[in-house]
Amino acid sequence: MIEQVKGTQNIFENDADKFLYIRNKFFSVFNNSGYSYVQTPHLEYSELFEKSIGQNSEIVTKQMYQFKDKGGRSLVLRPEGTSSIVRYHSQYQKDITNQYSYFGQMFRYENPQKNRYREFTQGGIEIIGNIDTFSDFQIINDSIKFLTELELKFTLEINTIGSIKDRENYTKELYKYFKLNENELSDESKEKLEINTLRILDSNNQEDIPIINKAPVITAYVNEESLNKYGLLKTILLKNNIPFKENTSLVRGLDYYNDLTFEFVGEDGLVLGGGGRYDRLAEILNIGTFNGVGVAFGIERIMNTITAKNTNPKIYIIGLNLEKITSYCHLLDKNGIDYYKPPRLSKINTQFKNAKNFNVKYVVNTDEDTIKDLENNISIDFNIEVLIDN
Ligand code: AMP
Repeated sequence: MIEQVKGTQNIFENDADKFLYIRNKFFSVFNNSGYSYVQTPHLEYSELFEKSIGQNSEIVTKQMYQFKDKGGRSLVLRPEGTSSIVRYHSQYQKDITNQYSYFGQMFRYENPQKNRYREFTQGGIEIIGNIDTFSDFQIINDSIKFLTELELKFTLEINTIGSIKDRENYTKELYKYFKLNENELSDESKEKLEINTLRILDSNNQEDIPIINKAPVITAYVNEESLNKYGLLKTILLKNNIPFKENTSLVRGLDYYNDLTFEFVGEDGLVLGGGGRYDRLAEILNIGTFNGVGVAFGIERIMNTITAKNTNPKIYIIGLNLEKITSYCHLLDKNGIDYYKPPRLSKINTQFKNAKNFNVKYVVNTDEDTIKDLENNISIDFNIEVLIDN
């Protein structure tokens, strides 16, 4: 037997319903709020992510699906969306400020477990160009619209990490502190100490928590202008009754962030999505001087959190007479009615069993010109009005 690749998923049945439900909400919320959908390739040159996410980040050092193609080019299956959208912006939209949405698969070589896969789906939005605090507000506000439409419970956590220089200074201090306490850190965090000190702050390992709690806090290293921008955003959030929690250890793992970082944390501590400001990313990539802010949601994590919404048809058509069943299909189509039908004209009992498996309310028997109401267990003569009103 050929096995499925570790960490990948087949999304089907109940999960497929949820997936499509979330995707539809994603597009209805964001495309109706002015974001234009952009689909970038799954394949990018390795250089894009090595430069953007950073040579020392966990994604680049350990998690990229990287290979040489037959022409000897070094390629990567994209691990995230922002860098590609920024590349797209510089190629085609460099001179304007624009709002984008994207939705698709990302690839990271992680330890597979529930809510953490090697191939997973992210839906994200970005505002790129010449941006300001209103842009930060929009990304947060529109994200909340999306999560609220999905009836999710979550906490918005925010932080400022200042400029890239501030972060470098902070990282040096943090390194000194963790080095002094190295013996008390978990093995996992010890490994991060030399190349990815900041990431230790994200650890959920109980061994690390007491050390992290006493670690220097980034806010003390953040420049005044960044603190002012952060203060302004907090005021605007408060004025608009958007609850948030400040989390000074929210630094996120990608090198390109500056100033604002934020995450939407679900009830059980699961991070449903996160983002931030990336004003230097275009410069780091040497493709322009424009700024950006964005968020990415983990679609499988949302799938695993929401309860399924049944928006499936309530009608199933059965019959053995080809002419009759096709003319009934035509009639229902003309009236804009959604319904299931058997894949072929199998035995009538089999068709009826199938109908029951789909949990429909009505079975239209086209041979007998009747409608069976399964909920009330009655049969009536066919009447299209009954189906229109369902
Ligand atoms: P990140 O780009 O790491 O900030 O990821 C943004 C969001 O994508 C996270 O908040 C998660 O919801 C989701 N995510 C990241 N990595 C994975 C993964 N390996 N499997 C499933 N979802 C993920």
